[in-house]
Order: sequence, then C-alpha cells, then structure tokens
Amino acid sequence: MRTACSSSDTPRIQVTRAVLEQLEREARAAAPRECCGFLAGRRGLIEAIYPLRNVAARPTVEYFADVQDVLEAFRAMRARGEELLGIYHSHPTSAAHPSATDVERAYYPEAVYFIISLQPALDLRAYRIISGEVEAVTIEVVEGA
Ligand SMILES: [Zn+2]
Repeated sequence: MRTACSSSDTPRIQVTRAVLEQLEREARAAAPRECCGFLAGRRGLIEAIYPLRNVAARPTVEYFADVQDVLEAFRAMRARGEELLGIYHSHPTSAAHPSATDVERAYYPEAVYFIISLQPALDLRAYRIISGEVEAVTIEVVEGA
C-alpha cells in the first residue's frame, strides 16, 4: 500500500501493518459505500481497529458512525487501556483528501484522520484537522507488532 511521502518536519503516527491490512479489507468490503471506524493504541502507536457502521444518509459519498457502535468501541478501548488515536474512512472513488464535509465533521481534534482511497489508485493518507485547518501527517508502518 502506498502511503504519504515522509519528511522530517511533518507530524507522524505509527500504525502496525496488521491494522493497515485490515483497514484496506474493510474499505474493499464496504465499497461502493464508505467504511469508517476508530484506530486505537498507546503512546502514538496504533495497534487496534474498530470498524463502525456507516449510517450516513449518502453513504457512498460521506460517513457518519453509528452512535451505538461508537459507544461500544469506547467501552472496549477503555477495558483494554487503549486511547483513541485515529479515525478512518474510505473514499471508494475519489482521492484520499478530506472533503469539505470531512473537515466540517472532524469532531475529534486530538485524533489523526486517515483516508483510504480505492480509486483512482489505492492510497492511504493521514491528516490532523483542527478548526478547519488540514495538516498532513506522515504514516510510519510498524512491522510485526
Ligand atoms: Zn471523506
């Protein structure tokens, strides 16, 4: 899977390869609808993925996580001592850049937003979205964690 170019001055987030592989499977299984979910872990390393049902009115072009799924994911994270580090969703047919709706609905400023695109090319990118400002985050893949 292709990831954003790295550069020394951009913020970074670490993700295990197993999580990235599941993220890609979730995106492919949900298409043509967008998938969405939480990414959790400890000390800046994402080790767990929590798929959430997308209950948006137009699920092929937007996402809105099911509230019950969100509550259950937070409960599971707390039980495992994990923190919410990222939020992902897919763009089945558009580039891995946040849409105006994505920026508007970025409700968790402490989380890194991951967008996986399936078309025109498989691509995964991460961003911080704070008060309408979008900043790229470098994804570091951690093997065998
Ligand atoms: Zn989006």
